Amino acid sequence: MTTYNTQQKKQLMDFLKKHPEQSYTIDEIAAEMNADPDFANPPGKSTIYRLMPGLAEENLVKCFAGKRGTKASYQIIGGESCHFHIHLKCTDCGKLLHMSDKDSHTIADDILKSGGFALDLGRTTLFGLCEGCRRKGNHT
Ligand SMILES: [Zn+2]
Ligand SMILES: [Zn+2]
Repeated sequence: MTTYNTQQKKQLMDFLKKHPEQSYTIDEIAAEMNADPDFANPPGKSTIYRLMPGLAEENLVKCFAGKRGTKASYQIIGGESCHFHIHLKCTDCGKLLHMSDKDSHTIADDILKSGGFALDLGRTTLFGLCEGCRRKGNHT
């Protein structure tokens, strides 16, 4: 990989690290980075498209399929530490929350005991509403 690519990748990661609880489509990342003075020379959209699959493969970002045919969105995950807990994805605001390792293991233990199924914590994401969205909306 060229130095140029490495710098682009670093900028992209820096941007995602700034917004650890938000997921973005590639279009949104390109627009937000352009608007952010911290990124003087942000990578273009086509570069981001090229870099993202690699980041997802390295387990640095999680890719979420877009709902109702919208574009996929991406969000940073905490690397190694994220292999040891379940993730909670808010279907309203798109936040990705990290369940505590302890709670994740409690759930995994229950599933293992009752069904003999060993849950892959790092790859499990549960969908629902975060506290903020649950409070503000008329969701029941
Ligand atoms: Zn995590
Ligand atoms: Zn939410």
